[in-house]
Amino acid sequence: MDNQEVPEAIMAEMLQQVSAVPVADLARTGPARFFPLCYLDSLLVYVAPRAAGRVWLRIPLWQAGVVALINCGLACFPLSRLAAFLRDQGTVGGREVVPFPRAVIGAVIMGVLIAEFFSLLPFAARPGSNRTCARHVLRAVLLSTSAIWLGAAAYKVLNLLMTWYVQHSHNRDFLAFPDNIVALVMFVSVLLFVVLFVHARAVGVEYRVAGDLPKPRDPLCDVCGYDLCAAAADGRCPECGRPVVESLGPDVRPPSGWEMHPSFLRLTTVGGQFARLYTSPMRMFSGLPLLSGHHAARCWLAGMLTLVGVLAFWIVEGLHAVSPDLLRGPTDWQFYAAGVSIAATFVLLGLMMVGIETAGVTLVGRFRGGNIDLGGAAKVTCYASGLLPFWVLLAGVQIVAMVICSEHGVFKRVGPRYDEAITLGSLALAHIGGLLWFELTVYRGLRAIQFANK
Ligand SMILES: [Zn+2]
Repeated sequence: MDNQEVPEAIMAEMLQQVSAVPVADLARTGPARFFPLCYLDSLLVYVAPRAAGRVWLRIPLWQAGVVALINCGLACFPLSRLAAFLRDQGTVGGREVVPFPRAVIGAVIMGVLIAEFFSLLPFAARPGSNRTCARHVLRAVLLSTSAIWLGAAAYKVLNLLMTWYVQHSHNRDFLAFPDNIVALVMFVSVLLFVVLFVHARAVGVEYRVAGDLPKPRDPLCDVCGYDLCAAAADGRCPECGRPVVESLGPDVRPPSGWEMHPSFLRLTTVGGQFARLYTSPMRMFSGLPLLSGHHAARCWLAGMLTLVGVLAFWIVEGLHAVSPDLLRGPTDWQFYAAGVSIAATFVLLGLMMVGIETAGVTLVGRFRGGNIDLGGAAKVTCYASGLLPFWVLLAGVQIVAMVICSEHGVFKRVGPRYDEAITLGSLALAHIGGLLWFELTVYRGLRAIQFANK
């Protein structure tokens, strides 16, 4: 979108899009009749995420809450069956089975919902009302709870299949319980990728109506936030002396090369984006348009998460290189399962960081008297996500270094009092150090966008 058309063009486009949504007719038939459709749709989202996302917009929050309650209730059935199955086994593979208490299941479900909220936030953030955006994400999180019982049911089926296979296999040691767990870990990790992808696409549909769009406000100095309402176009800011044209001129915050052509096939554009992020982030964020280019920013985030996943997968290759026996079972099965689960963990943690920072930047920005909405904050955090691969590298080096130390008996030599301290200390150092750069860059981005006019 041409940055000079903002915000009239957004308004016109929005009104057109909203009136084109066919489900608006369905909503007129009354929310009560619409409810079963939304319940079905929380499953159909896996077939057509964008269409489902548009249907979800029409359901009130409390009805989405009812859908979530039903879904969580349904999930309890396969989960309690699984708990009973494990209890009946007593010991599996020589290990005593500890059944998980209900409180733990409840806490896990709550944790998953909170994690999903922050994971979906960067994909939903648009310029305009923060409240509407937060409600949109919350509704999507509640309606997407079908994943819980979908996962729980599949978990149970997989478990039964595995048990049957072990009973009928000639080599009973192969695929005994530990490998069974490996299969489940692999399955849950792959499911996590599918759920994230599908729901990120569903939540990415346009949800704003005319009243949610950014409100017109007085023009501000881009640097100090001084109200330039009475300033001459060729004058300077009375507060900091910056030329008014550099805050309000037509050439302020033009779309970058990446925003005009968001494609990872354009290697020079991608390289330029990385170079600006790593060498001059302040200049990059000072030129970032906040009212347009959100699709490009989300593409960048998706690309960086893919990179995080691929790099994290290769951590197991590093582990295998330093300790060949560590992750090799009878087949490569354990090796790939470990890689996929490490990748899933890093992608989820990275995405949550981006989501929490998006909410944090918006809060801090408002606290400091700026005009930042979730849409503007998400643009900063999405582009700053280019620093997450650095965090994965640091975390990977720490994991591999710990295995090398263990292989060479370092921990035995220093004694049990110090080995825990070394492990925890280096773990904290790698993760805090890796994310510190991301955090500092996001904070600099906040300063560069807090008084932006477009
Ligand atoms: Zn100023």
